[in-house]
Amino acid sequence: MSDPFFQPPSGTDLPRYAGVPSFMRLPYLPPDHPRRGEVDIGLFGLPWDGATSNRPGARHGPRALRDASTMIRERNRATGQEPFRSAKIADLGDVAMSPVDQDEALGHAQGFIRGVLGQGIRPFMVGGDHLCTLTVLRELRAARGEAFGLVLLDSHTDLYPPYFGGETLTHGNPFRQAIEEGCLDPARTVMIGMRGTSYNNEDFQYGWDRGVRIVPIEECFALGWAQVMKIAREVVGEGPTYVSFDIDFVDPAYAPGTGTPEVGGPNSHEAIGCVRALRGLDVIGADLVEVSPPFDTGGITAWLGASVMFELLCAMQP
Ligand code: MN
Ligand code: MN
Repeated sequence: MSDPFFQPPSGTDLPRYAGVPSFMRLPYLPPDHPRRGEVDIGLFGLPWDGATSNRPGARHGPRALRDASTMIRERNRATGQEPFRSAKIADLGDVAMSPVDQDEALGHAQGFIRGVLGQGIRPFMVGGDHLCTLTVLRELRAARGEAFGLVLLDSHTDLYPPYFGGETLTHGNPFRQAIEEGCLDPARTVMIGMRGTSYNNEDFQYGWDRGVRIVPIEECFALGWAQVMKIAREVVGEGPTYVSFDIDFVDPAYAPGTGTPEVGGPNSHEAIGCVRALRGLDVIGADLVEVSPPFDTGGITAWLGASVMFELLCAMQP
């Protein structure tokens, strides 16, 4: 099964700080690469934060995560998995998204993702702000012809109405838009970790009215994370499911480098446990978004993000 071409160089052969950084030190396969069609799971960057409503900088996320992920080793000690051996995973590169034109940026991303899905590659998107997720959801919906489930780990629902009096999409409403467009099955959608202050309860109400299961942080800590993830698995069931991880799900003590931090969240260990609990679901795609390196401290957010990416790659495999 394991193909040497798809194995990252070991840190015992090439020091981890050396070489050209790709995600997890995996081979870089641009769209015209002859071996791209063999890829099972494709990591790609959407370096774009044009929908950020507060602190920007997530456009720099993919590069910081490539750098931090060179520290990732081959084996998951907790699960015994070796995800780069059990699947062909590669770095598919970044999409050239205009920093000044939202429609053009999202259009380019969708065209790229259409190509990825057309080659039978499971998409793993690295953001970028959370509106980037909408491009993946739209293309998965178009390719599959039906709505699918969602597990969202985030301190926000991202079900907010448009801001600033217009119709503008922001990183605060990708999932509202995805429900409106029929990408997500609200009855198979679970949102975990919501907290902090809010303008009103309109986002929660929007989700409740459509059958979304929202697990606010108070319920998470009251139930315990294992029970929360049991609920999550019950909500999405065995059907096709997308997993979206906003780094602001984790407490800002562990993940300060993000646009909209909210205190009182899970620690790194608890967050990684949530991802591990997803193993065995029918995960059709995943993402890690909202890492904003300009607000990071000592690279800890990027390092956590890279570690979450590794756990997601494991959770996407049997
Ligand atoms: Mn979010
Ligand atoms: Mn968030």
